[in-house]
Amino acid sequence: MKTSFSPSQLQDPHLRESEKILRSCVHCGFCTATCPTYLLEGDELDSPRGRIYLIKDMLEGGKPATPEVVKHIDRCLSCLSCMTTCPSGVHYMHLVDHARAHIEKTYARSAGDQFIRAVLANVLPYRERFRLALAGALLAKPLSGVFGALPVVGKRLRAMIDLAPLRFPSREIPEPAPVVAAPARGKVVILEGCAQPVLKPSINKAARRMLARHGIEVVTPAGEGCCGALVHHMGREDEALRFARANVDAWIAEMDRGLEAILITASGCGTTVKDYGFMLRDDPAYADKARRVSEATRDITEYLLSLPALEPARPTGQVVAYHSACSMLHGQKITDGPKRLLRAAGFQVRDVPEGHICCGSAGVYNILQPEIAGRLGARKAANIERVRPQIIATGNIGCITQIGAKTQIPILHTIELLDWASGGPIPEGLEGVAGLEAQPVNASSLHA
Ligand code: SF4
Ligand code: SF4
Repeated sequence: MKTSFSPSQLQDPHLRESEKILRSCVHCGFCTATCPTYLLEGDELDSPRGRIYLIKDMLEGGKPATPEVVKHIDRCLSCLSCMTTCPSGVHYMHLVDHARAHIEKTYARSAGDQFIRAVLANVLPYRERFRLALAGALLAKPLSGVFGALPVVGKRLRAMIDLAPLRFPSREIPEPAPVVAAPARGKVVILEGCAQPVLKPSINKAARRMLARHGIEVVTPAGEGCCGALVHHMGREDEALRFARANVDAWIAEMDRGLEAILITASGCGTTVKDYGFMLRDDPAYADKARRVSEATRDITEYLLSLPALEPARPTGQVVAYHSACSMLHGQKITDGPKRLLRAAGFQVRDVPEGHICCGSAGVYNILQPEIAGRLGARKAANIERVRPQIIATGNIGCITQIGAKTQIPILHTIELLDWASGGPIPEGLEGVAGLEAQPVNASSLHA
């Protein structure tokens, strides 16, 4: 694509990077076929190619964002399906991240929009605030229709309330770390994150048990927090970089003491942490450290595949539909690994039709764009139900929440199923699945 940035514009490293991306697009339109919003809306401006043109025009002209640009960029899920499809290697993620930051700096959103975004940015990344907000949403559930009828913010408030779980998010009772036989075979960090430990603390507990069976020690460095993805996707660049720097500081100290890997159990966070090297490339104090952190970051399933396989500790055989989160499939290009692990643990794994299309979760998208997200969620659940699974497995808490609200089939993190198969407790939500309760554990195959 021909561009016409002025030499002075190209002094700006962000514009220079975006110009390079824009020039790599040959406007062939292949990406439109796999874009969820184009699929639903049929509007070129809701396709990757249309958005690329809008971003080019906005950045080249050095203009503030217009309502039209904001409408179509806001509707983008950042699912990155277009990046998987694109034959020219257009790095749409970095381009749309730049566009979102430009919108945040130059566009005056309505008061209602600003309010919802400020609430999300100041609550979700902080565990205790999020726990309180979920408790409030739970109390408000019987009145969700009333909130939904409020002008301006009603639909989004209703989406927040409807997505909240049906139980109070109780504070975690700390449990002793699983015993790791000495000497440990390796040392890793598991990112605790922000929303996941409040919504489903069982995920990282299962990961710790699995790692303990493999003889891997897990350390929890002080100072780590939210990965920054939630605010990053809202264009709040300074806040995202603040989270990134805090995590880099926390982890690099451990890396200097022999940390082998930073493990992530939410693929949305994994995509962002793997991008820290890029996000902090212009910060001389952090560029090198952030690159090292990104290089050491692995999804939990990537790391497990690098270890010797564990013998299954109990018979399994249940039919599992594997939903690959967009951040796993398109963001990190992790395709077969989680399915291989599930099959090795004895599950019958089935692929989901239209597996490349987003479920509509996409960080806070299902709150900010509830109508499109709702349609995508229903479409995803229907596709999953088509393969008649007993259980759904996925690797991202956002998808668990989004799909879980649209189907009665239990949905779990992949690691919860792997942990159960190798001797862990029965995951919450699986109690009703036929035959699971009675299954004996083969104690001789437990390694922890
Ligand atoms: S597929 Fe790639 S090169 Fe073709 S229009 Fe889409 S982004 Fe541009
Ligand atoms: S990231 Fe997803 S929603 Fe956005 S343009 Fe690409 S395919 Fe479409």
